[in-house]
Amino acid sequence: MKKIKSEGKCCYCDKTYSSGGITRHLSSHLNKIETDNSTKKKSYHIKITGGKLYFLHILISEKATFDELDFYLRNIWLECCGHLSSFEIKGTKRSMDYYMEAEEIGIKKATKVGKTFHKDMILEYEYDFGSTTELTIKVVNEYFIENKEKIQLLSRNEPLEILCHTCGKEAAEVLCLLWHESGNMFCESCKETHAEECGGFADYSEMNIVNSPRMGVCAYNGGYIDLERDGIWQKAE
Ligand SMILES: [Zn+2]
Ligand SMILES: [Zn+2]
Ligand SMILES: [Zn+2]
Ligand SMILES: [Zn+2]
Repeated sequence: MKKIKSEGKCCYCDKTYSSGGITRHLSSHLNKIETDNSTKKKSYHIKITGGKLYFLHILISEKATFDELDFYLRNIWLECCGHLSSFEIKGTKRSMDYYMEAEEIGIKKATKVGKTFHKDMILEYEYDFGSTTELTIKVVNEYFIENKEKIQLLSRNEPLEILCHTCGKEAAEVLCLLWHESGNMFCESCKETHAEECGGFADYSEMNIVNSPRMGVCAYNGGYIDLERDGIWQKAE
């Protein structure tokens, strides 16, 4: 099987870079913005990854709270049925007991990120403590840049080139939640065949292919923002 590559577009110049190259590229823009503007207000360039292929680059104001970051992550990648979530600094052992309220786990969400973040810090984020989606948040750098929007998307991985598991030619558009030896992702036409063979498909096990590390988990069927990049991969004409 062909290895899937992960690339992102730069929000400033619209050029496409590999997941490795985009970080450095964005840094060059941010350095310039910092130099060209004089402010005491701070923003952080953070990179959020889910597995090896999914990433978000965000510029977040020091004034934004973890609540606001949580809300953003839910809207772009995660929200299915209002599960609990947590932020923790990597390496801080979770002291959790059964009597603990969910709100007590990890960093208090009302905290402003500027109180916690510093360059090179790594945090672990979890959404849903049952079928958990784990994300890693890296604070790439801090800048004297004012960010009135509070949270700005700098780049995210473009829809991944996921091909139909049956024909191997067309982009997969749906997946089946049930396990099948021959794979569970289907293009438009192979989907029809699968619907005839698979009992659960029409009733409950059909889900959309979406651009998120929570694809195919619980009731997740796509985000609420940046919708044009949440869809399926499109073959170049
Ligand atoms: Zn650029
Ligand atoms: Zn759910
Ligand atoms: Zn197919
Ligand atoms: Zn099926």
